[in-house]
Amino acid sequence: MRDKVRFLTAMVALMLSASCAPSGTPSGSDAGGAATGAATTTPHATVSSPPASPDAAGAATAAPKVAVTLFKNVRIFDGKAEKLTDPSNVMVRGNIIERVSSATIQPPADANVTVIDGGGRTLMPGLIDAHWHAMLIRPTPAQGIAGDLGYNNIAAGAEATDTLLRGFTTVRDVGGPSFGLKQAIDEGIIAGPRIFPSGAFITVTSGHGDFRQLSELPRTIGGPLSRGEQIGGFAVADSPDEVRVRVREQLMQGASQIKLTAGGGVSSPFSPIDASTFTEAELRAAVEAAGNWGTYVTVHAFTPEAIQRAIAAGVKCIEHGFLMDEATAKLMAEKGIWLSPQPLPEGMRTGLPVGSVQRAKAEEVWPGIARTYELAKKYKIKTAWGTDVLFSQALAQQQGAILASLVRWYTPAQALVMATGTNAQLLAMSGKRNPYPGKLGVVEEGALADLLLVEGNPLADINLVADPAKKFVLIMKDGKIYKNTLSH
Ligand SMILES: [Zn+2]
Repeated sequence: MRDKVRFLTAMVALMLSASCAPSGTPSGSDAGGAATGAATTTPHATVSSPPASPDAAGAATAAPKVAVTLFKNVRIFDGKAEKLTDPSNVMVRGNIIERVSSATIQPPADANVTVIDGGGRTLMPGLIDAHWHAMLIRPTPAQGIAGDLGYNNIAAGAEATDTLLRGFTTVRDVGGPSFGLKQAIDEGIIAGPRIFPSGAFITVTSGHGDFRQLSELPRTIGGPLSRGEQIGGFAVADSPDEVRVRVREQLMQGASQIKLTAGGGVSSPFSPIDASTFTEAELRAAVEAAGNWGTYVTVHAFTPEAIQRAIAAGVKCIEHGFLMDEATAKLMAEKGIWLSPQPLPEGMRTGLPVGSVQRAKAEEVWPGIARTYELAKKYKIKTAWGTDVLFSQALAQQQGAILASLVRWYTPAQALVMATGTNAQLLAMSGKRNPYPGKLGVVEEGALADLLLVEGNPLADINLVADPAKKFVLIMKDGKIYKNTLSH
């Protein structure tokens, strides 16, 4: 009965929205209206839901005006070049960056125009976190895996809004049941970043991501699922056939890429760091199923054995890679395999209880972080950037600071290119399964309008991105302004 009501409600919503805008195209009036609302009524805060059209009565007779945002006098970091442009102007129409020019841009006469006087500030692409777990930030591990779904989703929604307001307009979610959250964000129910979801972590029995208790053993293939599996948090698979099922289940729910754990991990109780988990045949089954859907597999892996086996099976991206050796780094570079490491903060290691299994495993992994970055640079491996924050709202608030900490190995400009233009190239690997077709991570004509207006020059002082509340004066996603603290 409830399903029937939901279905009917959805049908009505569909019919209503069909008269406003083609699906996938954000309505122009939303963007324009929200911009005005943010600028005039709520200068400090932040999230505005699309207001009703001011001339709703006239809407039946006149076509709604296209929404245009004109940024004047900004210096652009475009997500590619390691420098700012001269003072420029940028015009956003709908959700697309339509014009970038050092000359004056004349907005179309029939548009609903919001003018932003940049005052020489920096305009840059929205930030991208390539290793995020949107559902696993606020809850404790126990809540995340076995807690109430309603609570988990509401907590994740609040965190998603905070994530967007830190300037992260896109995240690649590499494990966790984020499909509903993504849908709610895309429908405008709640403010948050674009999400490239993987769905459940796919793991072998006892592998990284198998969060069952020993009391839940033995498992029978095809038998009842554990709570963590029922809610889509993780999925256990112990044969190529099971892997295919699990991969296809994630694709069915809208996964844009598939995540397997190819070796042991720090946070899971029963996977030694040195263990290689999936067999090559199992990994190959995942790669084949994902490939048939036009997308790719990424794996969690630390050791050379786990990384090399994954590459042999056709995996296109390695998460972490912190125990890799020279030969593995060379192989990754030769084969064009992506490396997605994270400059994990010390607090993540020291936060684990002394004497715990997890702490001991962290001690094994942590020294490898710096070495992996050195190898990535030495062999020019395609390198993404992400944070891998888990179970800590306080650490999530350090998201920008974790990005800034890349200056241990890179210039500020290199770090910011990594978190924008380069990360976007990794996202594009989702091919036809990309939920947001269009260019991300760059400021150029034709790209999707995810933009930050920054007080100061982040290429000179990268710590600006660690202070988004003060330094990001305007945040736009998909042409809509979510924050604007400039007065008009
Ligand atoms: Zn992770």
